[in-house]
Amino acid sequence: MLAIAVSPAIPGAEPTDEHSAEHVVFGACPHDCPDTCAFVTTVRDGRAVRLQGNPDHAQTGGVLCTKVSRYLERVYHPERLLQPLRRVGPKGSGRFEPVTWEAALDDIAARLRALAARDPQAILPYSYAGTMGLVQGEGMAARFFHRLGASLLDRTICASAGAAGLEATLGGKVGMRVEHFAESRLILIWGSNSVGSNLHFWRYAQQAKRAGARLVCIDPRRTETAEKCHEHLALLPGTDAALAYALMQQCIVHDWVDHDYVQRHTLGWEALRARALEWPPQRAAAVCGVPVEQIVALARDIGTCVQRREPVAIRLNYGMQRVRGGGNAVRAVACLPAVIGAWRHRAGGLLLSSSGSYPVRREALFRPDLLQRSPCPQPRVINMSTIGDDLLRPASPDFGPAIEALIVYNSNPVAVAPESAKVVRGFAREDLFTVVLEQFCTDTADYADYVLPATTQLEHWDIHLSYGHTDVLLNRPAIAPLGQARPNTWVFRELARRLGFDDPCFADDDEALCRQAFGEAVDFDLLLARGHVTLALPEAPFAEGGFPTPSGKCELASPRLAAQGLDPLPAVLPNHEAPGTDPRHPLAMISPPARHFLNSTFVNVVSLRDAEGEPLLEMHPEDAAARGIADGDWVEVFNDRGRHRTRARLNGRARPGVVVGLGIWWRKMGADGTNVNELTSQALTDLGRAPTFYDCLVQVRRVPA
Ligand code: SF4
Repeated sequence: MLAIAVSPAIPGAEPTDEHSAEHVVFGACPHDCPDTCAFVTTVRDGRAVRLQGNPDHAQTGGVLCTKVSRYLERVYHPERLLQPLRRVGPKGSGRFEPVTWEAALDDIAARLRALAARDPQAILPYSYAGTMGLVQGEGMAARFFHRLGASLLDRTICASAGAAGLEATLGGKVGMRVEHFAESRLILIWGSNSVGSNLHFWRYAQQAKRAGARLVCIDPRRTETAEKCHEHLALLPGTDAALAYALMQQCIVHDWVDHDYVQRHTLGWEALRARALEWPPQRAAAVCGVPVEQIVALARDIGTCVQRREPVAIRLNYGMQRVRGGGNAVRAVACLPAVIGAWRHRAGGLLLSSSGSYPVRREALFRPDLLQRSPCPQPRVINMSTIGDDLLRPASPDFGPAIEALIVYNSNPVAVAPESAKVVRGFAREDLFTVVLEQFCTDTADYADYVLPATTQLEHWDIHLSYGHTDVLLNRPAIAPLGQARPNTWVFRELARRLGFDDPCFADDDEALCRQAFGEAVDFDLLLARGHVTLALPEAPFAEGGFPTPSGKCELASPRLAAQGLDPLPAVLPNHEAPGTDPRHPLAMISPPARHFLNSTFVNVVSLRDAEGEPLLEMHPEDAAARGIADGDWVEVFNDRGRHRTRARLNGRARPGVVVGLGIWWRKMGADGTNVNELTSQALTDLGRAPTFYDCLVQVRRVPA
């Protein structure tokens, strides 16, 4: 068993007798956010009456974000799906009739059995991070689909380019411990609106700022975070690698390189050095669209810290990898801490994701071995980011069978997948059998043949790792499932039984799945008692090298990429749709989440939607004036893939040449039944086969209200 450090419990946050009239239950926020907060639910007479951040969990500090503070509004929402539904109207109409669980599951099982008898690859699971829980995520679902022999899903839609970049450079999704940012002297917040989507990191950054640290935000948009930092570099989308190289170039020419660290703990320094010297600040400034003085000044800030042996830390986030060169951009940024020896300090280095630090027993939990007992031991892999194209593909020797059945859980692809027009056409296929496990009638549920009511986090067991800190959290059910809602695990267990899958693993209950997730590596009794435990990890993980790469070094040049015929060094790749290359579509569009939404979650929570108001396109006043657009005007954003009507907002957040379509609204709540993904493309990134949501050229025109 790994050694586990346990935070002391505080009185009042212990789980209390569940049979008492009022008691509290430990839980974990399930949403796709690096903070993975611990919460405490107060239950009175079987109803959740209060949800608070757990004050005993240091990373949460008793504070939840605005979104999840409203979680009870979501749980008891009048539009919660509380019974199984069967389609009675045309696809997309959202017209359903109630049906019993028995009838729904019997019919679904019969349809899947018939398809599997021909070729189970015609069945595709489609899921992502609607919950981050290991149990209600893929715990039982992966077992079911592996045993069935269904197509495998490549879950790329958010983070796989960055993950591939980190993997190639550092060896995995590993990095600094987030709490140590509080001691950093210079923090680069790169591609992250931390105030909106990484609030608990922002607390540490604020601590550092109060202690005299300098905060620099690198983001095309003047976010809430950017305006609170000392400096903001509003670079053009997709130019981050050029900026990283220019910073390295300055470190080289001014000798701010930690030669000892580089020599002992990196691979490929000479090659990287030569490449970096091709990027003087003037060249990078022209590519990035920022003043050369800003780049030089930022490099000088880094150099000052290096000379004083003070820690420089980078909080990288996934925004900057949603472009063609996203994987290489992460590689370029991830080289920087090694070049300056920042990893020597516990408050120096980089954090993009910490999820690779966890000893998850994926084989035991997800049971990929069950594929060997299926009719198709080596099924094809479908990339979730090209679901629009793939749903429209006929059977072929290359592709295999057409997708004939889609089981969607923890995801809302009709709203969130790129190039909506094709996604919608695919989902509208009359010959596609679609089952959606959901809490609400989302855009995707509207296209389902069956909608199965899913439990919320307060109604089921789960266990969580984090990608922003290094604690394990347990989520215990606080209340009974509302109506006929059931956990995802229950649905897949029932389908497995109907399909005759008698492997003992399908009998595991949810608490057993929680125990299996980490096995002996985490003390489950401590989790039961306190709701959270902290992994025992080194304070400064790479102070003496020891990167989890094959060489054990930070791979500035990657032999593994070279072996694949790829550039071993981080490459500076222009966007698929580079600004200035298409006169018909001169504006670059990025589409980060609106402050009160988390991807497409929370859009139907009235208080949060009211706070957002309506779908907005942020524009720079010069771009707006050139088109006769005033603040608040209705505009149409368009390109060759589609058009989307929204309201223009000239609020000072967009830089010239870039518009910001805040997402991700449900299509049916948009002005004309569309959202920003009407415009985004299915082109993929350089590494990781990820989508390129922020690599999107558009034009904008004013339209009548
Ligand atoms: S900050 Fe993130 S993890 Fe914490 S409650 Fe909000 S969404 Fe959940």
